[in-house]
Amino acid sequence: MNVLRALGVDARVAERGVPCSGFQFENPQGRPLGHIDRSRDAAQFGAPLTMIRRGDLQDALLDEALRRGVQLRQGASLVQLDTSSPDSVTAHFADGSREEGDVLVGCDGLRSTTRRLLLPDAPEPRFSGLWDYGGFASGLKLPVAPGVNQMVFGRRAFLGAFVTPTGEVWWFHNGPRGPEAGEAEGPEAARARLLELHRDDPAWVQELLRATPTVLGPWPLFDLRGVSRWSAGRVCLIGDAAHAMSPSAGQGASLAMEDAQALAMCLRDVGEPARAFAAYERLRRARVEAIAAVARRNGSGKAPGNRASLWLRDALLPLFLRLGGKAQDRGYAYRLDWEARVA
Ligand SMILES: Cc1cc2nc3c(=O)[nH]c(=O)nc-3n(C[C@H](O)[C@H](O)[C@H](O)COP(=O)(O)OP(=O)(O)OC[C@H]3O[C@@H](n4cnc5c(N)ncnc54)[C@H](O)[C@@H]3O)c2cc1C
Repeated sequence: MNVLRALGVDARVAERGVPCSGFQFENPQGRPLGHIDRSRDAAQFGAPLTMIRRGDLQDALLDEALRRGVQLRQGASLVQLDTSSPDSVTAHFADGSREEGDVLVGCDGLRSTTRRLLLPDAPEPRFSGLWDYGGFASGLKLPVAPGVNQMVFGRRAFLGAFVTPTGEVWWFHNGPRGPEAGEAEGPEAARARLLELHRDDPAWVQELLRATPTVLGPWPLFDLRGVSRWSAGRVCLIGDAAHAMSPSAGQGASLAMEDAQALAMCLRDVGEPARAFAAYERLRRARVEAIAAVARRNGSGKAPGNRASLWLRDALLPLFLRLGGKAQDRGYAYRLDWEARVA
């Protein structure tokens, strides 16, 4: 939200989003495990924690980019890079077109073509063992307070639900099983899978899954670790292209936006691309790695394999949740000041 403020789109995002006042956690029997209070975030960190649908965030960013005259070409797929000139870089696209520029920023996500072309030895993303599904439902009376993320550490899988002020429920599931490689899974098969995985969890979870018109997904969740450098010459990686992580810290999009601001500041203040890219990586790497470690820790208890790991998880969760709240505070306290110089 603070990056969006620097861009002047925070108000539009706040309008389409919903503030979230905290996280409430429960176990498979519906017993409360702990709470993380986020009701003071606006005062402490400059903005409330804001929930927003991905398309609404993208619309707000797109509108602002077009308003400022950014040229956009959709449907162009990068296939090759020409870095042979010392003064420019050329991108070649699948439709045969090309673009030449001073620098190229690869913000092409988890399966980044830019990363593959620039750093052929970079590690591949690793499957985290978790699958994500989600959905939207309405017209339900669930035992979930509006404006709070209700998180269920279930017997076999995890489910998070958020009730908006208009009564819509936005939910996601993380669990251990998904379709086999090459198998197409329709929404009804997905619903059946989730009903089975949550069969021993609080009754409202089943009610929510049954009432959801279309179950969305699956998305296998990946972690990209150990990309040893984020740039070479006039080409630089940002966001998931450089450091994708499982969404268990809920920070991947925020980190991508912070990267964009940090890179813009470095290009503005350092100028020469290779030095600017090095400054950007110095500014960002420790922050990104700390959040990736939190995401891995948060994801670790979501799909207990057997009764012993379930027992251990439930015994340790209250402590982990307290630590998780503190890690969130540290994460939200981070600030990039657009007015400050980086060099
Ligand atoms: C299931 C799931 C849930 C998530 N939930 C959250 C959450 O709650 N909060 C959060 O902060 N993060 C969340 N994330 C993470 C978040 O989605 C990512 O971290 C974020 O989208 C990264 O942004 P990005 O711009 O780097 O990459 P992306 O959003 O992946 O965008 C990459 C873009 O590059 C384009 N592209 C790819 N290849 C090419 C090519 N060859 N040529 C041209 N264009 C190309 C793609 O079409 C896409 O538009 C979630 C991720 C998943 C999978």
